[in-house]
Amino acid sequence: QQLLVELHHAADLGQLSLVFQPKLDLRSRRYAGAEVLVRWNSPVFGAVSPGEFIPIAEDAGLIRSIGKWVLREAVRSIATCQSRAGSGCRLAVNVSAAQLASETFVSWLEHLLDAEGVSGSCLELEITESALMASTHVAATRLSQLRALGVSITLDDFGTGYSTFSHLRQLPIDAIKIAPDFIADVNAAAGSGRLVAAMVTMARALDLNVVAEGIETDVQAAFLTRLGCDVGQGYLFARPMDNTALEAWLRTPGRLAGTAI
Ligand code: C2E
Ligand code: MG
Ligand code: MG
Repeated sequence: QQLLVELHHAADLGQLSLVFQPKLDLRSRRYAGAEVLVRWNSPVFGAVSPGEFIPIAEDAGLIRSIGKWVLREAVRSIATCQSRAGSGCRLAVNVSAAQLASETFVSWLEHLLDAEGVSGSCLELEITESALMASTHVAATRLSQLRALGVSITLDDFGTGYSTFSHLRQLPIDAIKIAPDFIADVNAAAGSGRLVAAMVTMARALDLNVVAEGIETDVQAAFLTRLGCDVGQGYLFARPMDNTALEAWLRTPGRLAGTAI
């Protein structure tokens, strides 16, 4: 309860910040953009993980304002990156069901992109299966509007929710992001390997890209690359880090393909 009181003014008091976790093209092992993850440093509770405060913010109806703050900061980061590097500045932002449900969300985002001079193609939105299943019809409409802005859509935590094949066929999405649960034991005997192979086959049939998250070992990375996953993310490659650390990480030779960041 006290947490909620503190959370109410966290954004206004500058207690929220963003960290960035690189995603890599699994075949070339080059940088392919980063996922934006919010952090809350509360003077009362210390560092609170988003796994803890995002569900609270969702229940209390605070997620729309926090989500707007995150998106605004993320789009500004893209703009800053562009002015320095030109191209190759792509970020993925997590979006909750309540944000997507808002009728003004798409026009708000369109204005934001315009105001910052950022192309929609530099932005990817990660939406969990459960958020989309809440209302497939509304979701499909909203996702089409977002894609008309050039924004791409990734189904986050794939495999843990309730999406059916008919949902998947109807939803205008660009990629699935396989949940870490499946990645953890992907190369173990009787592990998730064959399941992940089936997910890749399904994604190919539906023209979707495949992202694997929570990659922690070389063996997992090699296995997932062999299975045909396109993009990988996890502690093996990089942990979430602040802007300055990301810039330093990107300066390491071999991370960038051509001109990026
Ligand atoms: P998610 O979108 O599935 O994000 C991935 C989470 O897995 C992140 O935790 C990340 O730090 C963690 N992770 C990445 N690589 C590895 C790995 O190799 N091993 C392990 N064990 N973990 C890894 P984080 O930052 O605590 O975020 C947790 C969740 O909070 C996110 O899950 C997302 O659902 C939510 N979240 C974070 N930021 C936002 C936001 O700005 N808006 C919304 N709506 N939700 C957010
Ligand atoms: Mg995510
Ligand atoms: Mg996820």
